Amino acid sequence: MGRQKAGKPRRARKPEPLLREWYGSAIYGEEFHHADVRTVGNSVQMTLLPAELEQGPGIWMLRLRAGGDDLERMADAFEFGREYIWGQEDGKEALIYLPAFASDEEGTLGRVPVPEPGGDLEFLRRKEFPLPIFEEMGRSIRKILPALDSSASHDNWTPEEHAFCDVCARPVFDTMPSGLTFTPSRGPLHLCPMCVRGETLKMLRTCGPDAFPEHQALLRELAQQLRSG
Ligand SMILES: [Zn+2]
Repeated sequence: MGRQKAGKPRRARKPEPLLREWYGSAIYGEEFHHADVRTVGNSVQMTLLPAELEQGPGIWMLRLRAGGDDLERMADAFEFGREYIWGQEDGKEALIYLPAFASDEEGTLGRVPVPEPGGDLEFLRRKEFPLPIFEEMGRSIRKILPALDSSASHDNWTPEEHAFCDVCARPVFDTMPSGLTFTPSRGPLHLCPMCVRGETLKMLRTCGPDAFPEHQALLRELAQQLRSG
């Protein structure tokens, strides 16, 4: 029998860090639109803006509990463009996702009174995004689910707080790689990661040179400043 070579000890692979947050933006209708999802304890916190709320346009923050809400199926509905409705705890309201509802290119997430069969849909709150943003959000929600802390109590939940980016108004949470910079024209500015990395400027350029001229000028000024260190 030949001698068997002992296999080289395998180098232990570094475990991939758990993804805990995702954020995306779109520009349409002359406005910046932002989405953010993150794990907080045993829940997913979703922040969407600007949304149509009961009192007018504003920021819509939702808490989706692991166990109570079927987060995997919600992720599937977003990613694969499936209509879906989630009952809420009180049984009176529901969350609904309707792909291609407002237009062929947009998905609508809404809070509605639990609809009667055949009854009209009445939105209490709603947010539209281009379908690719919902698709990416669905994929990302599935990726952050392993970071939920199943030992965290649902009772002691407080939303994670945020500031706003001074350029694009994205909600900026403490865990994000944000930046503070000073510009001669505007003084100190708190920037979100997308503005720091130049992604907002790139997105604005694809809308054309005349879109948001003030934002483009400011972001160009910031890019020059960041380049010159
Ligand atoms: Zn920004």
